Amino acid sequence: MGNTAIISGITGQDGAYLAQLLLKKNYRVIGLIRENSPLNTNGLNYLGILDEVELVNCNLLHKDEIIVLFEEYQPTEFYNLAAQSSVYQSFIHPIATFQFNTISVFNLLEAIKTVDNKIRFYQASSSEMYGRVNDLPITENSILHPLSPYAISKAAAHFTCIHYRESYGMHVSCGVLFNHESYLRQDTFFVKKIIRESIRISKGEQEVLLVGNIDIKRDFGFAPNYVEAMYLMLQQESPTEYLICSGESVTLRAIIYYIFNKLGIPESACQVSSELYRPSEIEDMYGDNTKARSELNWQYNLTIFDTLDLLLVEELKNDNKTHI
Ligand code: NDP
Repeated sequence: MGNTAIISGITGQDGAYLAQLLLKKNYRVIGLIRENSPLNTNGLNYLGILDEVELVNCNLLHKDEIIVLFEEYQPTEFYNLAAQSSVYQSFIHPIATFQFNTISVFNLLEAIKTVDNKIRFYQASSSEMYGRVNDLPITENSILHPLSPYAISKAAAHFTCIHYRESYGMHVSCGVLFNHESYLRQDTFFVKKIIRESIRISKGEQEVLLVGNIDIKRDFGFAPNYVEAMYLMLQQESPTEYLICSGESVTLRAIIYYIFNKLGIPESACQVSSELYRPSEIEDMYGDNTKARSELNWQYNLTIFDTLDLLLVEELKNDNKTHI
């Protein structure tokens, strides 16, 4: 019998790409979905793997349901990707964001401790946890200073993982991922939104691109490559934390102008509205991925602009089809 992996958040961007990767490695892949919420299988469909994964209802806020799940499927690995993942939404729903993003992690780790503490666990931590940083690049040793309810929830979940690893010897690793993008990214996230709207402007279907603070800088990468690091983390003998990032940052303005330039749109079509600014904002962040490269042998050689090229090509190819 081969390995069995359970993925929470399989209907999201990373969940779909990770499922695809694990299927290629002959895993049995169980994907968790939630009851009372519309089932979105667009990403799994797009990758042609919907029939190859097994989708199972499980409420991660109910520990007993997770225990029954583990007893039934006996997973060797668990990838915890489910989260309220939008920083913007977290300012609107701070308590629900904190509640789901942290309690689910406690429940999962308690269930592993109860059923089989050899189950290897991956937690989707976030670079947002670092928030206001004094020194760049960010490393695994940088101090956390979260600046949003989302970041606070991810920081609490991150320390929960470290606690279970240190206190109970469990194989718990955290991937601290910086922004990563793909065709499967939700429409509301920055890069996807910019590319979609720019294509509309280039076709004369929209006049301007309305944006908030675009002078902040971010480190962006390509999601299909980032999920490889998740898999590699759970193959290591010892669990720990790794930063997964491209290692460079650019302003959001530079990203917009790059896409505009590719599509022949004048820079004047970009309009800044202070109403779209967030209550608190991280000025600049980029990470150092040396540890992931050397210990995991994770290979990543794309620049941010390489990533934009890949995204634009895929978006234009699918432009006439029903959107994800
Ligand atoms: P998505 O937003 O694309 O997917 C989130 C997934 O979580 C979906 O499957 C969604 O299910 C599920 N989910 C959301 N809320 C709940 C809930 N209350 N109960 C159960 N399931 C829920 O995220 P990504 O794939 O982009 O990211 C994966 C993980 O990595 C997330 O934890 C995110 O916070 C983290 N991360 C992502 C980064 C990025 O740049 N993409 C950067 C750093 C961290 P449904 O389809 O039912 O809504």
